[in-house]
Amino acid sequence: MRTDFDTELEDRLVRYAVIDSQSDGHSPTVPSTPIQLDMSRLLMAELKAMGAQDVTLSQDSVVLATIPATEGVNAPVVGWLAHVDTAPQFNASGVKPVVHRGYNGGDISFADAPDLRLSPEEFPFLSEKVGEDIITASGTTLLGADDKAGVAVVMTAARHLLENPDIAHGKIRLAFVPDEEIGRGVTQNLPADLAADFAYTFDGSMPGDVEYESFSADAGVVKITGVSIHPGWAKDELVNALHLGAKVLMTLPHVTMTPETTEGREGFIHAVSMTGSAAQVEMHFILRDFEMEGLEAKGALLRQVCETVAKTEPRARITCDITHQYRNMRYWLEKDMTPVDIATAAVRKAGMEPVSGAIRGGTDGSRLTEFGTPCPNIFCGMQNVHGPLEWVSVQDMAKATLVALNLATGVAELDSPS
Ligand SMILES: [Zn+2]
Repeated sequence: MRTDFDTELEDRLVRYAVIDSQSDGHSPTVPSTPIQLDMSRLLMAELKAMGAQDVTLSQDSVVLATIPATEGVNAPVVGWLAHVDTAPQFNASGVKPVVHRGYNGGDISFADAPDLRLSPEEFPFLSEKVGEDIITASGTTLLGADDKAGVAVVMTAARHLLENPDIAHGKIRLAFVPDEEIGRGVTQNLPADLAADFAYTFDGSMPGDVEYESFSADAGVVKITGVSIHPGWAKDELVNALHLGAKVLMTLPHVTMTPETTEGREGFIHAVSMTGSAAQVEMHFILRDFEMEGLEAKGALLRQVCETVAKTEPRARITCDITHQYRNMRYWLEKDMTPVDIATAAVRKAGMEPVSGAIRGGTDGSRLTEFGTPCPNIFCGMQNVHGPLEWVSVQDMAKATLVALNLATGVAELDSPS
C-alpha cells in the first residue's frame, strides 16, 4: 500500500537525484563545486514555497531554515541535517533514476550497463523488499541517495509539519550542508548558524539505525626527501626517496591494522596515496580508531616507523605530520544521552527496533558534536552507496520520515527548558 509520503518521497528523490551535485576534494573553494548550489537554490525555493521561515544561505553555503514551534510549545530547538553533495568516488553526472515499482524479488538489471546486476543473493536486504518501490540509477552513475534520500526525508517531514499546525512540536532548524563527502560540510560556524540544542543527521542506511558512535580520525602526511643526482654519476651519492617510501610501507603492519583486515570496533592505518619521484615522495595516510588511546597509538606507530626508516639512511630527510580530522561523537553524547533516547523512542514508535552500531567512518554529526551541538545519525534508507548498485526503497524513506515526525513530537513532550 502506497502512502501519501511514498508519492512525495519518490518524486523528491527522483527530482533531486538528476541534479549533479558531486563534491571535489581537490577543489579549495566553498562549496567545492558550484554545481552543489543548484541543489541548494532549489531547496531554498521549495522551502520558501512551503512556508518555512528564515530561509538563508550561510557564509559556508549551508541552506538554513526554520519550522517555527507550534503555538504554546516551549521545547528544546532541534536541528535536522542532510547533505546536498554526492560522492566523488563514482560518476555522478547524467543520473537517470529508475523506479522499480512493486519489486518482484528477482535480479534488477540496468538499461545502460547490460552486464550489471543488483541481486538479492548478493545483497540479502533486497530480498526483504518484495512489493516495495525500489529506486536505482541506470547503470553508469551512482544514484545519490546518499544523501538525497536524507534531503527528501527532511523536506517531506518539514512540509508535513508546516501544513499540519495541529501537530505539537518545538522549533526545528533545517540545515542542508555541502561537501560532506569530502569532510568539509561542518565548519566552526555551524553550531551558531544552526542555533539548535541538539540535532540529527539523516545520513544512515538501515531502517532503525540510530548511530551515535563514529570513528575518531587523524590524517598522516609523510614526506621523504632523498638525494637527487644524475644516475650516471650516482654511485654512493644518490638516495632514492621511492625506495625509502616503499620501506615505510613495508615496515608498517599490512597483514593487520589495515582497512582490508579489520572490522567491527578495530581501528586501522590506511595508506591512501604515494606520489613522487626518486628525489621526493609524499605519502598520505588516514588513521582510525574508536578510542583515543588506540588512535594515538596508531599515530605513534607511524612516527616510529618513519624514524626507524630514517635511521637506515641519514642523508635522507623524512617528516611525519599527524593532523586532527574528527572525533567519536560518543565522547560527548554519553554525557547526556537525551538526543539518542528521543531518537530510539521515535524509531520504536514508528514500529522498528532501534539499532545503534558504531560507524566505521564519520558523519557531519561527528564534527558538529565536537563543535558543541550533539548530533546522532538516523537512517534514511540508502543502500550500496557511492557506486552503480546504489538503491533505496521508497517505503524505507517513508519510515525515516515517520521517525523524523516522531522526533518532532517526542521533543515537544520533554519538560520545557526555562
Ligand atoms: Zn552521506
